[in-house]
Amino acid sequence: MKLSITPSYLCNLKCNFCYYYDWLEDRKLLDLDILDRHLDEIQRTSPIEYIDIYGGEISILPPTYVRELCSIIEKYYKGEISIVSNFVRPEKYFFHETFFNPQQYKLFVSYDFDCRQNHNQVWTNIQAYNGDINILCVATPCLMSKNIEDMIQFFNSSHNIVSVDIKSYSSSMHNDLGVKWSNYESFMQKWISAKTKKQFTCRIEYNLAECISGSRNAWNDNHIFISPSGNMEIIQFDPNGREYFTKLESLDEFFKYANLEKEKIKNNIYCSRCTWIGKCLTEQYREVLEINNSCNGFKNLIDWYKNYVSPV
Ligand code: SF4
Repeated sequence: MKLSITPSYLCNLKCNFCYYYDWLEDRKLLDLDILDRHLDEIQRTSPIEYIDIYGGEISILPPTYVRELCSIIEKYYKGEISIVSNFVRPEKYFFHETFFNPQQYKLFVSYDFDCRQNHNQVWTNIQAYNGDINILCVATPCLMSKNIEDMIQFFNSSHNIVSVDIKSYSSSMHNDLGVKWSNYESFMQKWISAKTKKQFTCRIEYNLAECISGSRNAWNDNHIFISPSGNMEIIQFDPNGREYFTKLESLDEFFKYANLEKEKIKNNIYCSRCTWIGKCLTEQYREVLEINNSCNGFKNLIDWYKNYVSPV
């Protein structure tokens, strides 16, 4: 099972594309006893394969709380943990090499140039950090208006950026920036085929290689979110395709939901005929109602990449 744990929605920024936009001043903290019980149950039912911790902004939470949170997670899971931060004003403990064991914790910094507030400060903090940094960008209209060669050169200029991922933007109950799946595909094609050599791992290429080899699991059957209220949740979509979170009453409910979703996707007119069903780039399947602007499995991007790496 993959878990995304949100200890708090509280954030020191308010980005217009955030999935939690209306909740960013909520100071509620995830009750760690509840987290402990969830992890115990999940681990016994479906071994934990991956965890990410994000928010809100984790780097502004008290160090004692964050340490206890990590200790509870470490009781159940020894694999890689991603910490996602905006890195605007991280507390000092973030810079202590022993606070997060670098063998287990990987730092992901959300960096979107001037499309996100305080980007100069974030860049200064990145440069001051001793460890490896993985960059996460969101493909908003603002980011996709940037010059790709300049972006790559900028990331190359840093001493510690080891990977860059550009995530697709998805509309939610909080915001809708009108981005089409095909906009993301065109941008990523240019990003992948840019002339400037990338001196970092390009995560989208890694994901695309997984799609093509068939090793990617795209079904909605292995990912649960844990919210600051202590709920286990899943992402669902309203009739306009905007995502929202729904509470699960139990793990059993999750597995029933996963089976129903799989049937629904297999019966979808487009997915059922698609080569990439079950292994496409989607992070959460949604009903494909038309394919003119592609889909959130990014079918056209996978087709393009397959030909890009092995032209016929
Ligand atoms: S690539 Fe698109 S059409 Fe194909 S399975 Fe994924 S979501 Fe469905």
